[in-house]
Amino acid sequence: MGLRAQVQRSLEDREGFWAEQAKLIDWQTAPQTILDYSRPPFARWYPDGTTNLCHNAVDRHLPTLADSAALIYVSTETGQERTYTFAELHQEVMTMAAILQAQDVKQGDRVLIYMPMVPEAVFMMLACVRIGAIHSVVFGGFASVSLATRIDDATPKVIVSADAGMRAGKVVPYKGLLDEAINLAQHQPKQVLMLDRGLATLELKPGRDLDLAPLRAQYAAAQVPVEWLPADAPSYILYTSGTTGKPKGVQRDTGGYAVALATSMRDIYCGAPGETYFSTSDIGWVVGHSYIVYGPLIAGMATVLYEGTPLRPDAGILWQLVERYKVSVMFSAPTAVRVLRKQDPSWLKRYDLSSLKALFLAGEPLDEPTAAWIGEGLGRPIIDNYWQTETGWPILSVAHGLEPTPTRLGSPGMPMVGYNVQLLHEQSGEPIGDNEKGVLAIVPPLPPGCMQTIWGDDARFVKTYFDSIPGRMVYSTFDWGIRDADGYYFILGRTDDVINVAGHRLGTREIEESINSHNAVAECAVVGKADSLKGQVAVGFAVLKDPVRYSEASAKLTLEGEVMALVDKQLGAVARPSRVYFISVLPKTRSGKVLRRAIQALCEGRDAGDLTTIEDAQALDQVREALGQAMGVSGEGTSARS
Ligand code: AMP
Repeated sequence: MGLRAQVQRSLEDREGFWAEQAKLIDWQTAPQTILDYSRPPFARWYPDGTTNLCHNAVDRHLPTLADSAALIYVSTETGQERTYTFAELHQEVMTMAAILQAQDVKQGDRVLIYMPMVPEAVFMMLACVRIGAIHSVVFGGFASVSLATRIDDATPKVIVSADAGMRAGKVVPYKGLLDEAINLAQHQPKQVLMLDRGLATLELKPGRDLDLAPLRAQYAAAQVPVEWLPADAPSYILYTSGTTGKPKGVQRDTGGYAVALATSMRDIYCGAPGETYFSTSDIGWVVGHSYIVYGPLIAGMATVLYEGTPLRPDAGILWQLVERYKVSVMFSAPTAVRVLRKQDPSWLKRYDLSSLKALFLAGEPLDEPTAAWIGEGLGRPIIDNYWQTETGWPILSVAHGLEPTPTRLGSPGMPMVGYNVQLLHEQSGEPIGDNEKGVLAIVPPLPPGCMQTIWGDDARFVKTYFDSIPGRMVYSTFDWGIRDADGYYFILGRTDDVINVAGHRLGTREIEESINSHNAVAECAVVGKADSLKGQVAVGFAVLKDPVRYSEASAKLTLEGEVMALVDKQLGAVARPSRVYFISVLPKTRSGKVLRRAIQALCEGRDAGDLTTIEDAQALDQVREALGQAMGVSGEGTSARS
């Protein structure tokens, strides 16, 4: 059956369709009820089934794949390279599970994982879901304030971390940031388990911090059976940014997620047991959860866990790994490809890529020149796929497992099974026609695998996602989209104040709060500005409490550096603005709303748009002036600190 027919079936006979898909995974008790939708918009998939994610990712394969590769660890930072078979992975996971149980971690307890790309992080994730604990992985690039917010929201019993990560040859210490975050947080974990990689000095706080190494030795042969869980038991919380300063804890279930991933592995990624999957993402992001850890393993594939960049030791490293491990499915982000595009194209031709079936790209808009360049260079299909932390797996793509739908440059494709996608008019909420711009929405119930709720806040879940389009209780993606006459969708950017830097989603409000915490700043606005490499970069405009003190150019420059360092320290380098400009008034509407879209337009050299509601038109002149001066002085985007 072709993609469109299958999608239609999945919506018309929702329960029949997902009952069939449920057979792709193992259940301890097979579900009799497929969907409980008695409390819209909350969807409970397979509510009376019991299963386990770790069983489906690991134990299930032992009879057939025990000695096949499961986790291939490659660190070009430390020079480590090691393959774990499914049998070895099974033991490592049971060891970690025993360690967690020894710390009194039980079903439903949270375990926060703040780790670099090391195998132990994957063992821990799988160990958590094995015993029904809920993991919350926090991206290692986040700093103390971001981490503290997440500690307070998830209230973990245990935190697992490491002395340091490494990036581009530099040690990135984790422990200091973690200690600072725990100091800032109200909630205190009972125990902190530390992996000592020998990269940075590691001081353990007595009574709280434990070295993982002796515990691993102690529990090296531990046997920890799988805990069978109700399908709707939460498996993890993953935080993502929104329009408020407070990140949202996306809560995912167990059974629906496993089924959705299995379906996507068959239909979209076309991975087969025994093959190798290589995603260049990080376990701190949703792609890392779904398509480094759970998806490939559920499909019986080996998965590559890569600590390194696309350029070290040289620009051929990704392709060298494809050759060495006979990677059949690869997943990366447009930014990584744009980085490679600045290098000698012959790197794409030096290795044997015959194992590679397709390269999937996601996380940010894929521009046509980038897609065309990599497609021609590799001679392989390049498949854009569009989704969000909230959905856990693709909303739009092509499904070559169902039919060879041609891809179209600039488009991530069409709706996948289970998603009732509609483009709606922002104000009226009415569906719009082909080639018209609308908000990309999903009519609930959301399919299996999508978020269940916001951790600890059902009301916020409903209000945030289902209350933004007038008169319609539909899920808003907060993305603008357009559909052509052939049914291909195109994504045109966010409808809210969320920006996307190198595939990383950031809320401008979080960055603004960080800038505002500098003593000299009265208020500020942060917008995303188009960037040829990273897609977007953050740019800040701050109003100072005492502008006279900073009237000299040199004082401004020092202050700009201080503000950037502050954001770096509080949120992490990924959130650091590329520039911070100082102006005396922010452009606002008469009702006091900052005109971010107008500021953004000026940053990108576009017209500021509709300004009928502006309070003080001169405020925009200041923005223009600040940008103009900066261009005059240092050239656009070439700030010494960018
Ligand atoms: P995240 O939840 O961090 O994965 O970010 C999701 C957001 O990234 C989406 O709402 C889009 O704005 C953007 N995004 C993800 N994938 C794509 C894609 N293939 N094309 C365009 N935008 C994308």
